[in-house]
Amino acid sequence: MPAGIRFPTVRLPGSAEELRAEVREFLSCEITAGAFSPRCDSWLGGYSPEFSRKLGERGWLGMTWPKRYGGHERSALERFVVTEELLAAGAPVASHWIADRQSGPSILRHGTEVQKKRFLPAIARGECFFSIGMSEPESGSDLASVRTGAERVGGGWRVNGTKIWTGGAHRSHHAIVLCRTSPPEERDRHAGLSQLILDFSTPGMTVTPIRLLTGEHVFNEVIMGDVEVPDGMVLGNIGDGWRQVTSELAFERSGPERFLSTFPLFVELVRALGRDPRERAKVEVGVLGARLWTLRRMSLSVAGALEAGDAPEVEAALVKDLGTGFEREVAEAARLLVPSGSALPEGFTARLAEAITHAPAFTLRGGTSEILRSIVARGLGVR
Ligand SMILES: Cc1cc2nc3c(=O)[nH]c(=O)nc-3n(C[C@H](O)[C@H](O)[C@H](O)COP(=O)(O)OP(=O)(O)OC[C@H]3O[C@@H](n4cnc5c(N)ncnc54)[C@H](O)[C@@H]3O)c2cc1C
Repeated sequence: MPAGIRFPTVRLPGSAEELRAEVREFLSCEITAGAFSPRCDSWLGGYSPEFSRKLGERGWLGMTWPKRYGGHERSALERFVVTEELLAAGAPVASHWIADRQSGPSILRHGTEVQKKRFLPAIARGECFFSIGMSEPESGSDLASVRTGAERVGGGWRVNGTKIWTGGAHRSHHAIVLCRTSPPEERDRHAGLSQLILDFSTPGMTVTPIRLLTGEHVFNEVIMGDVEVPDGMVLGNIGDGWRQVTSELAFERSGPERFLSTFPLFVELVRALGRDPRERAKVEVGVLGARLWTLRRMSLSVAGALEAGDAPEVEAALVKDLGTGFEREVAEAARLLVPSGSALPEGFTARLAEAITHAPAFTLRGGTSEILRSIVARGLGVR
């Protein structure tokens, strides 16, 4: 591995494997009881506030946060095991996903004491859901160009602008919104950005669906018209938005959701191929399995680095780029390896349809492949 990019081996402690058995037992009971049916991309489309509350009751949300904020002071590796089991089972985790993965850790790191006490215990109980308010119609990859503006008014800020692709905005309670609180500086276009915590029930917030190719409603356009935000809902420091947003990225890009979105299809593929598949199928499934295992070890290594307090932004970009490419290839392999004329198990055709229709988004959300590769190139010193 070239200097500058490191994936030290991380081994899971015995406690994590005990936890894995506990999570598997819980999931198997939930499936048997009909609480959910496994699906692909369940962290984007599998909404179930009830299921999130059940995870909260078991202590599987806010796992690494301090107990005084409703957390459970467990390790990032234990959290990794819980999230990989949930995703592998295709469980409905979308309601709490952003709050638990990203918004909660940001509030823990940058928030005021009042914000921590208000939001973190509620997120850990599975009762408070967040969305990411970063992208805008003309600002996706080039996030520093956001035009949503917050102007100073007595005791707070007045926000005007439009966010787009806002996952779960129609079901979340809050969004952390990146906005301009002062114009960019000539030498630093990242200056003047700030993060505000907006409540979707505030007057002036309008959420309009943008439907997926499948007709599913998972993301939205969010228009903010003269939305009043009190000073107490500024996250971190005014003007520090860029630094804060980029510190979220390693959390956003390196987790098992970046290579397990189509895992429920992989399981169905192996089932559909049966006990004696053709040689080509054996080879392809073997190669996919080996890649999956490598990605998992890389992702685990990033989890270990995050646990140690590092910010492995480049390694996280690499995991996301390779992982989301892999997720798409699982869909492609399943399509090509199983003969279309054969009587196919219902589970296989349903997972294949989910994977194919969701796959175009895998390499876009959370940063496109081109952007990730440019981060990796910079990390390697070749750009
Ligand atoms: C399923 C899904 C869920 C999402 N959820 C959210 C959400 O909850 N909240 C949120 O804020 N956003 C969300 N997004 C938005 C996502 O972050 C953006 O789509 C992404 O950052 C790309 O931005 P864009 O769509 O504006 O594309 P653009 O930035 O316009 O890019 C278009 C193309 O140009 C390429 N490109 C752009 N700049 C460069 C460059 N400098 N060098 C090389 N190539 C370049 C890109 O790689 C891409 O191929 C979501 C997107 C998807 C698909």
